[in-house]
Amino acid sequence: MTRLVLVGPPGAGKGTQASALSEQLGVPHISTGDLFRAHVGEQTPLGQEAKRYLDSGELVPDSVTNEMVRERLSEPDGAAGFLLDGFPRNTKQAEVLGQILSEADTSLDAVIQLAVPEEVVVARLMSRGRADDTEDVVRRRQQIYASETAPLLEYYADVLIAVDGVGEVEEISARVLKALRDRT
Ligand code: AMP
Repeated sequence: MTRLVLVGPPGAGKGTQASALSEQLGVPHISTGDLFRAHVGEQTPLGQEAKRYLDSGELVPDSVTNEMVRERLSEPDGAAGFLLDGFPRNTKQAEVLGQILSEADTSLDAVIQLAVPEEVVVARLMSRGRADDTEDVVRRRQQIYASETAPLLEYYADVLIAVDGVGEVEEISARVLKALRDRT
C-alpha cells in the first residue's frame, strides 16, 4: 500500500499529514505546492510562470503541472512508492497520473481523503499565515476545490479511504495507518 494520494480541501492538514505519513511509511512525500514554491523561490522559468497562479489561488495549467510531476516521479526514490499531496487536483491530472503509472506497469494503491468541515478548514487557513492565505485567495481556493478537485472523490471511488481529519496530528496519522492496514 505505498502508492498513495492524499486529497482534501486546502487547510485540511494534507501537508502536515503527508510529512508524518511519508516518514512512517518510508516513501517520499511529493507535494506539488512545495515543488511550485521552491521554483518560485529560486525564480526558475517554471517558477516565474507559476507565481501568478499561486498568488491568486488558481490552478497552475495542467500542462506545466503534469510535466513537473512526470519528472518528479521518474526520480529513483519514487520507484517503490510515494505519497502525493496536492496532485492530482482535477480529473484531467488524474488521467495523466494513471497514464504515468500504467507506463511503469503499476497503479495507485489508495487515495486517502482527509475529511474536514469547511469552518474548521477556513479557521486553520486564516491562522497559518502563508503568503497565499489572504481571505479572498482562501475563498477562491475553496471554490476551486469544490468544483475541480472534489470530483476526484467519485473518480477514485474504488480506491478511496475517507478518514476523519479533525483532531491531533498523531491521532489522524494513526487513523490513516489503521485504515490502510484494514484494507489489506
Ligand atoms: P498547496 O500547497 O497544495 O495548497 O498548493 C498551493 C498552490 O499551488 C495552489 O493554490 C495552486 O496554485 C498550485 N498548485 C498546487 N498543486 C497543483 C496542481 N496539482 N495543479 C495546479 N496547481 C497546483
